Amino acid sequence: MKADIIIVGTGVSGLFFALNAPKNKKVLMLSKSGLDESDSNLAQGGICVLKNPDDYQAFFEDTMRAGHYENNPKAVEQMICYSPQIIRDLENYGVEFAKKDGKLLYTKEGAHSTARILYHDDLTGKEITSKLLQQVKKEKNITILEYTAMVDLICENNQCQGVVASNQNGEVLSIEGDYVVLATGGLGGLFTHSTNYPHLTGDSLAICLKHEIELENISYIQIHPTTLYSKEAGRRFLISESVRGEGAVLLNKAGQRFASELLPRDLLTQAIYEEMEKDGQDHVWLSMKDLGGSIIKKRFPNIYAHCLDKGIDVTKELIPVTPAQHYFMGGIKVDLKSQTSMKRLVAVGEISCNGVHGANRLASNSLLESLVFSKIAARHIASHYQSADHHVKNLDQQSFLNLDKLKETYRKTILSEIERSRLNDIKHRSV
Ligand SMILES: Cc1cc2nc3c(=O)[nH]c(=O)nc-3n(C[C@H](O)[C@H](O)[C@H](O)COP(=O)(O)OP(=O)(O)OC[C@H]3O[C@@H](n4cnc5c(N)ncnc54)[C@H](O)[C@@H]3O)c2cc1C
Repeated sequence: MKADIIIVGTGVSGLFFALNAPKNKKVLMLSKSGLDESDSNLAQGGICVLKNPDDYQAFFEDTMRAGHYENNPKAVEQMICYSPQIIRDLENYGVEFAKKDGKLLYTKEGAHSTARILYHDDLTGKEITSKLLQQVKKEKNITILEYTAMVDLICENNQCQGVVASNQNGEVLSIEGDYVVLATGGLGGLFTHSTNYPHLTGDSLAICLKHEIELENISYIQIHPTTLYSKEAGRRFLISESVRGEGAVLLNKAGQRFASELLPRDLLTQAIYEEMEKDGQDHVWLSMKDLGGSIIKKRFPNIYAHCLDKGIDVTKELIPVTPAQHYFMGGIKVDLKSQTSMKRLVAVGEISCNGVHGANRLASNSLLESLVFSKIAARHIASHYQSADHHVKNLDQQSFLNLDKLKETYRKTILSEIERSRLNDIKHRSV
């Protein structure tokens, strides 16, 4: 088989890359499982955005502080500056975010100093992924193969030339391409307790190790503080941080609060583990009761329905919660254009590591990161294909809110101020 661009993974990063790839190139997407079985589809809380330029410094600082200042500041800057354009792109694809009187509503999660998260009920990931998928299905240059797992890369002289995949009929496919994009998500499937889909087992990491492709910070695993406690095997159900952002509280065995609910994820997880040990319990309690029944049902319909199905009415009862593996900050080492150490091999989304999250991801920065860097990487490849095409370059420059542009605006203001006082000065002296 042959394609121009092979994208492994159909979560938001793979889908958004495909939509931003050149339309005259044949794009082939592979998914190890069904199309709706990606972690992107599970995202509940929302997606961060720079809601106005005044929030830039605080957004930057919140991301860095949560990441213990191990973040790549250039990556953080890029993610924040591109965020308004990404939200406009999503809205153009039909994604609907919560609004009141036509104005976007923002929610807050742990370690955010202000409300800057857009959401769609508690099903933000489903809303975004389904609308991107609808769009991808309309594109004539994109083909998707479901239940087809990448099992190896075809490489020669440190250059990637395609992938080897295996489908559900047991057939082995050798697929050649100009570029391979790894968008295979996290590695929660390797853990007994994880919020991730079990088929997400970090396959790309193993394949990269085999081909000596550089990895970074692979021990940086995020544990989410609040997942629904269960003795059943299988994926852990997330109780989104936005629930605590809206006022839900954590309680110990004695019914007392023991930590600030909006601590960064790693610190709150530690506090919960300590409390569980002190109490000799394998969970703590989360109370949503003060939010009120109607708000819970309207704002968190998915969490309400899931817990009810498990016998817990969250409008009246406490929810047993426990930490579980959730996210992978490390991954395949990439630069700011998502290029790996192997030529023609790109990595985007959760499996890539450009350093944007440092040692601990700030809530709701993941969907954003996946989209921003996928778009930039796709445009970069487009410019390789069409280096003489000014259209692509102009789009890149115009369509993003760029920090340099902001600085330039301020600089112009300052320069004109200096010029004004200089003219005044001359006028006074001449008088
Ligand atoms: C329960 C939950 C809630 C979350 N809530 C939020 C939130 O509110 N806000 C936020 O910003 N982030 C959230 N996240 C994190 C975020 O959803 C993910 O980090 C992000 O969606 C990852 O996107 P992705 O495209 O990189 O990977 P995914 O969406 O996980 O997609 C991975 C794709 O790769 C495919 N794949 C994997 N291995 C192979 C292989 N060998 N061959 C072929 N295909 C393969 C899979 O089938 C899948 O299609 C949440 C995550 C979870 C689990």
